[in-house]
Amino acid sequence: MAEIQLKSLAHSYSKSPAGPEDYAIRQLDHVWHKGGAYALLGPSGCGKSTMLNIISGLVQPSEGEVLFDGKRVNTLSPRDRNIAQVFQFPVIYDSMTVYENLAFPLKNNKVPAARIKERVQEIAEVLEIEDKLHKKAKNLTADEKQKVSMGRGLVREDVSAILFDEPLTVIDPQLKWKLRRKLKQIHEQFDITMVYVTHDQLEASTFADKIAVMYDGQIVQFGTPTELFEQPNHTFVGYFIGSPGMNLIEVERCTGGVRFGSTEVALQSWQNEHLSRLESVNVKIGIRPEFIELAGNPSESSYEVEVLDMEDLGTYKIVDVRLDNQNLKVRVNEDFETEVGSLVYLALPPQWTMLYVDEFLIQEQP
Ligand code: ADP
Ligand code: MG
Repeated sequence: MAEIQLKSLAHSYSKSPAGPEDYAIRQLDHVWHKGGAYALLGPSGCGKSTMLNIISGLVQPSEGEVLFDGKRVNTLSPRDRNIAQVFQFPVIYDSMTVYENLAFPLKNNKVPAARIKERVQEIAEVLEIEDKLHKKAKNLTADEKQKVSMGRGLVREDVSAILFDEPLTVIDPQLKWKLRRKLKQIHEQFDITMVYVTHDQLEASTFADKIAVMYDGQIVQFGTPTELFEQPNHTFVGYFIGSPGMNLIEVERCTGGVRFGSTEVALQSWQNEHLSRLESVNVKIGIRPEFIELAGNPSESSYEVEVLDMEDLGTYKIVDVRLDNQNLKVRVNEDFETEVGSLVYLALPPQWTMLYVDEFLIQEQP
C-alpha cells in the first residue's frame, strides 16, 4: 500500500505541444493517500485513462514526477511499481483455466503454493466464481471473463495500489451494482489504495469516499460526494454532478450583486468584495435545483416566474421555470401543485447561490 503523489504532472501525446489544448493532462498536483477508496470521475476523453497509465507506468509523463511514498518512480517499469490494473475489457489467458489465470500473478511473484491455493479460493469466493475455477477461460461469458480479470487485479496482497479503469463497462447492469458493492467490501477488508475510474457519478459515489472530478485534463475538484454537491468548485462539477445538474446563469456586476436582463440578484458581502477585486467578465451564478425555493405566493425576496414544464418523478417533481429569459430547473416536493403556464414565486437562498469567476467558485476566506 502506498501514497501516490503526482507532482507538477503534465502529459502531452504530441512531441511538440503548442499549447494547453495539446495536453491530455494539464499541469497538476495531486495526492492519492494510503488506503483510500477513490474515484476518478469525468467525461470520455478528459484524461482519466492517461492518468491511470501514468501511475501504473504504462505511459511515461512528458512533464513532472510520480512519487510512491515520497520516492520517484518515473523510471520504474510497471512491474517494479507493484501496481495492479484492471481494464475496461478482460485481460486474461483464454487457454488457461480460471484457477490458473488467478494463480498466475502470484506464481510470478513466487508466492508459496499453499498460499496461492488459499488466496485464489478467497478471491474466487468474493467474486462468486468458485464453481468456474476449473473451466477454461475461453468458455466463460463476457461477465465471467471480466470477473476473472478483476480477480487477477485483486489477487496479489503485496500491491501498492489497485487501479480500475471503467471495469464494469462490459458487465450486465444488474451485476454491476453487485460488483461495485463487492469492490467496496474488498476495500474495507484489505485496506488497499484503490482508484476507480468511471464516467458515472452514481458509480463513483457508491464506491468512493472521495472523488476527483476531472475535466479537460485537470482535476477541478477532489472532495466527498457531499462536498461536490454542496460546494462545486468549478461550474463543470456543478453541471456534471446531480440530476439535473446545477443551474448556471451568466451575469454582470451591479450594485450589491449581479444582474441578468432586468433581474438583480443580491450577493453576500464577501462575494461582492471578491467580485470587486476581479476584472474578468466571465461571471456566473450557480444554484442547484434542490436549493431553489418555489411558492404559490410572493414574498419579499421572490421573483415571479412562469412554469414551462413539470416532470413528476414520484417522490419529487422537477419544475422548469423561466426567469427573465433564463430557464431554471427546480426540484420540489411531490405535494407542490402547479400547472404549465402558471405564475409562481421563486427565491434564491443566498447561502446556496454560488458565484463563479472564470468558471471557478469564489469561496469565503476562513
Ligand atoms: P478518458 O480515459 O478520460 O476517456 P484518455 O486519457 O483516454 O481519456 O484521453 C485523453 C485525451 O488524450 C483524449 O483527447 C485522447 O484522444 C488522447 N489520447 C489518449 N490516448 C492517446 C494516444 N495513445 N495517443 C494520442 N492521443 C491519445
Ligand atoms: Mg478511458
